[in-house]
Amino acid sequence: MKILVINCGSSSLKYQLIDMNGEEVLAKGLVERIGIEGSRIKHDTTGKERVTIEEPMKDHKRALELVLAAIVDKNHGAVASMDEISAVGHRVVHGGEDFASSVIIDDAVMDALNRNIELAPLHNPPNIMGIEACKELMPNVPMVGVFDTAFHQTIPAENYIYAIPYEYYEKYKIRRYGFHGTSHKYVSMRAAEILGKDIKDLNIVTCHLGNGSSVTAVQGGKSIDTSMGFTPLEGLAMGTRSGDIDPAIIPFIMDKEGLSFEEVNDMLNKKSGVLGISGISSDFRDLEIAAEEGNKRAELALKVFTNRVTKYIAAYAAQMCRIDVLVFTAGIGENSGLIREMVCEGLECMNIMIDKELNNTRGQEAIVSRNLASATIMVIPTNEELMIARDTLELLSNR
Ligand code: AMP
Repeated sequence: MKILVINCGSSSLKYQLIDMNGEEVLAKGLVERIGIEGSRIKHDTTGKERVTIEEPMKDHKRALELVLAAIVDKNHGAVASMDEISAVGHRVVHGGEDFASSVIIDDAVMDALNRNIELAPLHNPPNIMGIEACKELMPNVPMVGVFDTAFHQTIPAENYIYAIPYEYYEKYKIRRYGFHGTSHKYVSMRAAEILGKDIKDLNIVTCHLGNGSSVTAVQGGKSIDTSMGFTPLEGLAMGTRSGDIDPAIIPFIMDKEGLSFEEVNDMLNKKSGVLGISGISSDFRDLEIAAEEGNKRAELALKVFTNRVTKYIAAYAAQMCRIDVLVFTAGIGENSGLIREMVCEGLECMNIMIDKELNNTRGQEAIVSRNLASATIMVIPTNEELMIARDTLELLSNR
């Protein structure tokens, strides 16, 4: 069975066509600048040369039309006809409290997705546009929604309720939701698989460290706490996002600088994090080079970032009594030995010890802990697309 995985952003669209027989990627690509001048698709079919398609794409529907045409193209395509695509799995950022697992998309699900727009006004509308475009272009193909929030719906109330008047939870559903759930789920399952253990017996902490970053406590295969909250702004300091700050800073800065709600929101989401501290870049490669060259603010930014990751890991160790496995994933977690080492420095008091030599690895599955350490430290490249395709296959098989 071949499954198309779609991940729509406001002006971008990522896709993968996966043959579930062997979980092999047949084709993948990225559409950029949808609705903006200069739209293009970078399309890769496995075993063939990359093609770049430059054509105006006024909306997601036009982009998807061209993606489907590329997938079935005689020369650079991956399959002979669209009939070979059995289902489409869509990444959806926010499922609110409506979705604790992936679902087959029907009219009731579409209503719920539209209801949840107010929880993720930037992310959910493009996800919905992608689903609608697919439904128009492939009316008889089943669609599945896979939510970033779903894996975290097992978090108990004491970890998702904020200490603000309870009525705001009742009226507006203000609570911790958590994000990157598909990634945390994939790497925790993969860790158990690599170690040959039943995930039910493991206490795992997963660190998804990328442009956006979050840490999750996974006990017995279930998320019991995570660092992102009502929105993806809470928790770790990120590339451009502040993560946790004293909320009183917000009205203080608004007053001092005469900022509007939009401006302060923009400051916290786009001008903060390691970019805000360093004044140099949100990209950790740039910061590592600058710190190496003696730039103090770049060094400080890396320390603020890694200290906060350490603190969350330690907090989750306390919640679960012990950590059996610590996983690093996503752009920084998979590639930066320095960041992994800095995070683990603060964990030595818990006998969580990284092996500097083994840690000299990038972009591949590896165990990087010392022999006698109490937790196995692992690097596991995430694969959200495969997780979405697996969920899609499972739902279709159980229909
Ligand atoms: P992601 O959001 O998972 O795609 O991660 C993107 C981020 O990973 C980039 O902004 C970089 O900061 C970081 N990154 C990628 N490669 C490296 C590397 N070799 N060393 C340090 N950071 C990296």
